[in-house]
Amino acid sequence: MSLAAKIKELGEEIGLDIVRITNAESFPEAEKHLIESVEKGYIPKNDYYTSGNISVRPNQLNLNKISRRCNPKSILKRVKSIISVAECYLIEETEDVQDKGQLCGKIAKYDAGNFYYDVKLKLKKIIDFINQETNYKYKSKNKSCYISLTEKPIARRAGVGWYGKNGIIITERFGSWVVLGEVITELELDTDEPLQQDCGDCTICIDSCPTKAIVSPYVIDRTKCLQFISERPMNVPLAFREKWEDRLYGCTTCQEVCPQNRKVKLKKYKPEYGYIGSKIPLMPLLQITEEEFQRYFAYNQIAMRPKEAIKRNAILALGNIGDPRAVVPLIKVLQEDDNPMVRGHTAWALGKIGGEKAKFALEKALKIEGDREVREEITNALRMI
Ligand code: SF4
Ligand code: SF4
Repeated sequence: MSLAAKIKELGEEIGLDIVRITNAESFPEAEKHLIESVEKGYIPKNDYYTSGNISVRPNQLNLNKISRRCNPKSILKRVKSIISVAECYLIEETEDVQDKGQLCGKIAKYDAGNFYYDVKLKLKKIIDFINQETNYKYKSKNKSCYISLTEKPIARRAGVGWYGKNGIIITERFGSWVVLGEVITELELDTDEPLQQDCGDCTICIDSCPTKAIVSPYVIDRTKCLQFISERPMNVPLAFREKWEDRLYGCTTCQEVCPQNRKVKLKKYKPEYGYIGSKIPLMPLLQITEEEFQRYFAYNQIAMRPKEAIKRNAILALGNIGDPRAVVPLIKVLQEDDNPMVRGHTAWALGKIGGEKAKFALEKALKIEGDREVREEITNALRMI
């Protein structure tokens, strides 16, 4: 049995759903696509995806960074092969009793637990295996997050799946309900071919995206994508706030409507790390401290996001749920929170829920609020009541 076949067998044994292999050539098409996306403003120039470095001045496009992300040799000089893996995250969930009667926000399926960390641990086992089989002759590194190396082109070239028009990799058995990961190695392995499949005439995801973020097939305007916005501490445009619905983190609408995802079976599996389930009570997040935030979301991807972004998400979800029980806790945020973005979105949520108590608090806040943008938010909120 070839070493490539043994690696695939091991992948299956340790619970990886797909293991394929490709060469270590760079990805010029992906690089071009990324640069165009930044130039068109579909990815903010100062986002960590493009700058990845706080020393880079805002609005300065870091072309080197993008180029490095599309070139496996930037991570491992003598790389010869890339093992591309996928793990399905569509898991069976048990109802969480603690959520009964509470106002809850929705967690996107890919974040119910830390599937990336789960994959990373499995990739480590593959590296250990390669080391044993080759007597530590080759260097290998594992990646399970797109920040240092762009993963989707790797998965496409290795035949893990093909690009959906929503920009997400679709696999044959698990649809797009997968997280990706890679081992890049100096070891030369037999490679696989890309799959010859595509979306055909379907445009369901493009038509169903609530914010029209899929501007054309395979081109996503991240600044309009609720998944992207939910991770970052930025203002949510007024036009998107009702479309936000009860999301606390992420968005999977374009995956839920995809015909390729309909027949995927739920897995009986729970990731060991960072499990938070699909719903989370929102009110405790309004006053959560950084320490509590880190503890509550330990090992989950949310712990890596700015607390203010998650708090803002909770506030928008509460506004959209519209339950008057949220009014008093929201007033407290409007009066006490240091962050203008948080106060501004709180004003909107109070305007959305409405009622005398919310109106009185907004009028009072307008008299003392020092931030111009927050005052505009309050004025707008008062118009909504
Ligand atoms: S994740 Fe949501 S907002 Fe983003 S493209 Fe898909 S449907 Fe649109
Ligand atoms: S909804 Fe249709 S167009 Fe969109 S990814 Fe799925 S198959 Fe492709």
